[in-house]
Amino acid sequence: MASRTLTGTGATPRSGLGTVVWYDPEITLPDADESVDAEAERDRFADAVGTARAELEDERDATAERVGEDEAAVFDAHIQFLEDPTIKEAVEESIEAGHPAALAVDDAFGEHIEQFEGMEGRMAERADDLRDVRDRLLRLLTGGERVNLADLPEGSVVLAERLTPSDTAQLDPETVAGFATVTGGRTSHAAIFARSLALPAVVGLGEELNDVDDGTEVVVDGDAGELLVEPDDAERSAARADEGADVIEATVETSDGREIEVAANVGRPEELEPAAARGADGVGLYRTEFLFLDRQSPPEEDEQYEAVVDALDTFPDGRVVVRTLDIGGDKQIPYLDLPEEENPFLGERGIRRSLDPDSELFRTQLRALLRAAADGAGELNVMFPLVATVEELEASIEAVEDAAAELDDRGVDYERPSLGVMVETPSAVFMAEEFAERVDFLSIGTNDLTQYVMAADRENEHVGHLHDPTHPGVVRAIADTVERAHAQDAWVGMCGEMAGNPDVTELLVGLGLDELSMSAVTIPDVKAAVSETGYSAARERADSALRVATRSEVHDTIQ
Ligand code: PEP
Ligand code: MG
Repeated sequence: MASRTLTGTGATPRSGLGTVVWYDPEITLPDADESVDAEAERDRFADAVGTARAELEDERDATAERVGEDEAAVFDAHIQFLEDPTIKEAVEESIEAGHPAALAVDDAFGEHIEQFEGMEGRMAERADDLRDVRDRLLRLLTGGERVNLADLPEGSVVLAERLTPSDTAQLDPETVAGFATVTGGRTSHAAIFARSLALPAVVGLGEELNDVDDGTEVVVDGDAGELLVEPDDAERSAARADEGADVIEATVETSDGREIEVAANVGRPEELEPAAARGADGVGLYRTEFLFLDRQSPPEEDEQYEAVVDALDTFPDGRVVVRTLDIGGDKQIPYLDLPEEENPFLGERGIRRSLDPDSELFRTQLRALLRAAADGAGELNVMFPLVATVEELEASIEAVEDAAAELDDRGVDYERPSLGVMVETPSAVFMAEEFAERVDFLSIGTNDLTQYVMAADRENEHVGHLHDPTHPGVVRAIADTVERAHAQDAWVGMCGEMAGNPDVTELLVGLGLDELSMSAVTIPDVKAAVSETGYSAARERADSALRVATRSEVHDTIQ
């Protein structure tokens, strides 16, 4: 057993063994009362912005080449922050008031960072991007040394307070064995990059991580969300053996011939190519609200159209399922200035917000989708999030018809995509047959479905034992949904996190799911698990799992 085990949040379900290298770029700020020549400081600030811009452009190009063309887009967001006129003005005013440029930068960025930190979920993580830009400027203004993350010894495990997106993009998965950070959540940019690089990573390990010294041998267990300090022989070998399954490019079927589509969940164009490279048959969930983050205003119709055509062209022979905007709950977009809610997970989120008569956003998105359906190579499917009633579904279908009529008026080419509904609410489970009568497919979102069936907040670690889709209540909800959808000849997929867990693949196949969609990193494991599953045996096991009363009995049945 390891001498110590620290627990955090697994970012990538992979293990890596290596030696600790602390990444700790330190910056010493000048004294506030240092007397300064305002003009000279203004020039130094302008020079630092110019150099930072050039560095960011170089890093963008290098990342595009090494990680993937679109992965590099985060650097454009950094350039936008670097040149943000409000921040620039605040820095210049502070210099005018007699502060050294480095202090002025620290203050001006500090205010914006605080604002982002005060927000919920993913928006809070934009604070990381601002910190990244601030630290880059401070390093240039204070003459600090740059730590070269791109040139680390083979087998390094990088430990850091936090890693910014540009730090993470420099890590070479061929040499770096993984990373672990004090702060950060599963949806931080660092975690998202780690998943697209299939790099073992654990985030949010807390202050205890600071006690792990440089040069210590550790295992980063991204599956368990643990860092094993001084692992024993068995733990070392297990980490070395964790290479993951080989990529399977073809579609897969069970040993007795039932084909199961294995697709990717994506949120940004830069995730498409890596998903295809890991053998995705298509996209089972495109979280379009992610296209609305990291910016000051919503993307125009043309930009949304391009993003969807890009997805359809990446999977010319596959199916691409795009979910319409799912704003609300933990996904807030500050520039939309939406009203605050007492209980946002039970409030106006998902389709409820899109169906608001003022939702020009929804209409714009539907026009972009219909145009993309006509022009992209693959087959477009559009699904609506958090539907609870037939009325909502019918209003959504009507909105698609309205978008078609608008495009007719404009004389623009379009096609009607296949339509589907996400099953995320208990009501949707009970109404699955009526929904399936009206659309082509259903996709089960177990992240929310578990949250609402079990009344357990998906974000609250204190009820984490309840937020588990292998509780019999959730397993039965999945089975009922599949049965009701199939009764109407609709296909049923699953795009919640559960679909990416190879330990439950046999259960899901046995429950009758037609498609499983997940983060790209686990696609090879799930494809391998499908190929090893026999459908008739899986059905028998699933039947047993539906007759037991506790989570542990479900686990016993599927082992
Ligand atoms: C889900 O709820 O399972 C789902 C896939 O949607 P999201 O995680 O984006 O809420
Ligand atoms: Mg959801």
